[in-house]
Amino acid sequence: MKKQTENLIPLARDIVMDHIPQLVVVMDAHDLIIDANEVAESWAGIPKVEMIGKDPLQVFKEWPQFLNRMLVTEETREEVTLSGEPTRIVELMVIPIKNKNDGTLNGRVVVAHDITERKQIENDVTDMNEILWGKIEEVESLRAQLQEQAIRDPLTGLFNRRFFSEALEKEFSKAARENSSLSVILLDVDHFKKFNDTYGHKCGDFVLQSLAKFLNDNVRKGDIICRFGGEEFVILMPNADTNAAQERAELLRKQFEKTLFEYDDKKLKCTFSAGVASFPSHASQSELLLSRADQALYHSKANGRNYVTVYTLNAPQV
Ligand code: GH3
Ligand code: MG
Ligand code: MG
Repeated sequence: MKKQTENLIPLARDIVMDHIPQLVVVMDAHDLIIDANEVAESWAGIPKVEMIGKDPLQVFKEWPQFLNRMLVTEETREEVTLSGEPTRIVELMVIPIKNKNDGTLNGRVVVAHDITERKQIENDVTDMNEILWGKIEEVESLRAQLQEQAIRDPLTGLFNRRFFSEALEKEFSKAARENSSLSVILLDVDHFKKFNDTYGHKCGDFVLQSLAKFLNDNVRKGDIICRFGGEEFVILMPNADTNAAQERAELLRKQFEKTLFEYDDKKLKCTFSAGVASFPSHASQSELLLSRADQALYHSKANGRNYVTVYTLNAPQV
């Protein structure tokens, strides 16, 4: 029974050697081939018997890259690209066989596996991944663009009314929670209809764009400027009390009054009127804050325009 098993082992090893998809070459201490399998035969293009006793440098001379690495003294595993048409990528493993007592080299087992196809698939997957990531970035940027468009006014680039409503709610809750102030300046260009009628709608557009830029350049960081509609703008000022908002509105009004717009060789002037209201002084609800600023604005218009009014609690209701 033992004898039978003993006979079986070398037989089984031979079967394994010739049936595994890897090339196997065994070399002795003189770097000469002492064993090789069927894959090695097909790679070298010569039968095994002709390989035995030969220098692998001759047998595999077509692949110097492959051979350079065969003669290492430590166990190695690496990928080697073999020239030829087509080029092949091989995973090469060299296992030195060392003398157990003194560590001297008795030979080497070389195992090599053609992984060209696997690498190709890996490269394809990497390429696909890159394309996919590119697409994801594209979609993300489009989404951000759309989101931006949804909250911006196309003419002036300022936030639109929809955004303002949300910002007002948010800032109002924050101010109430933190016991801080929140002010609103509502402003409306004076006699803008006449301006349009006199200089044309395009010129009117230009003035609205210039006013938007002017406001952007002259409010504090953190203030939120929106085009409320037509020629009406609103500035939301977190942490600003009535005085701060009134001062800012006055400053803006005075500076804007002096601004000259150059359009079609003409130098034009324009003014606006404003209404100011603040939390907590003038309103306990966000909607009320806005409507109080609107009442103050109405007062500025009635007062001759190019004027700033701060809402007062005892103002006549309009
Ligand atoms: P007031 O001083 O009372 O505010 O007078 P006004 O003429 O400014 O007010 P009115 O509400 O009578 O007219 C507003 C004008 O604003 C009319 C409209 O054509 C113009 N307008 C609104 N939106 C735009 C726009 O996007 N571009 C231009 N060029 N004009 C606009
Ligand atoms: Mg107006
Ligand atoms: Mg108006």
